[in-house]
Amino acid sequence: MLKNEKAVVVFSGGQDSTTCLFWALQQFREVEAVTFDYGQRHRLEIDCAKDIAAELKVQLTVLDMSLLGQLTQNALTRSDIPIVHEEGELPSTFVEGRNHLFLSFAAVLAKGVSARHLVTGVCETDFSGYPDCRDSFVKSLNVTLNLAMDYNFVIHTPLMWIDKAETWKLADELGAFEFVRERTLTCYNGVIGDGCGECPACKLRRAGMESYLQSRQEALQP
Ligand SMILES: [Zn+2]
Repeated sequence: MLKNEKAVVVFSGGQDSTTCLFWALQQFREVEAVTFDYGQRHRLEIDCAKDIAAELKVQLTVLDMSLLGQLTQNALTRSDIPIVHEEGELPSTFVEGRNHLFLSFAAVLAKGVSARHLVTGVCETDFSGYPDCRDSFVKSLNVTLNLAMDYNFVIHTPLMWIDKAETWKLADELGAFEFVRERTLTCYNGVIGDGCGECPACKLRRAGMESYLQSRQEALQP
C-alpha cells in the first residue's frame, strides 16, 4: 500500500538517517530528503548528505536553520565549546528541541510536495536524554501536525526500538551495509566512514558495528 505513496526523510548524512533513507526507498514510491544546515561544526556533514542523496538519486532540500545558533550555545554549533558527555547528564552537543523543530519544518516541506509520510531516525533505545526523541513525543507531534495543517501525516521511526547493532543489521538487510559504513558521517571530528575512532560518536558507532558483525558471524557457524 505504501508503495504508492511519497515520503520525506529527515536526513543528516549520518549512519541512522542514511539507513532510514534506504528503508524509505524500499517502502515508498517516491522519496525526498531534507537536511538542516544549522551551522554544524563540520560543513562536511552537509556535503556528505548532498553526495549520498545525489548517488541515490533522491531530491534533497537543504534548509537554513542557522537561527539555532542564535537560540543556543553548545558544542555542535560552537567550535570553541568542547564535546563532553558526563554520566547522567545531557551531552554538550545537546540542542534543546532540535528534533521537534526539524520534524515540524520537514512536515511543512512535505505537505508542499504532497508527501504525507515523514521518516526520522530518532531512537528511544539509546535515548541519551533527548525528550523529543521519545516515541510518546513523536506520536504527540504527529497528532499536532495533523491538526496544525489539517493533513494526515504519518511519522515513521524505523529505528525507535532498536539499538546501534540492530541498526547495522537493518542496513545489512536493506543491502546497504557497505554503503552506510563507507559513506556516512557520524564522527564529531568530521572523518567519513569508520571515523577518527576516538570521539564518543565513533566509539558508539564502532561498538554497535562490532556487536552486529559478531552476531552475524555466530549465526553463520553451524
Ligand atoms: Zn570520531
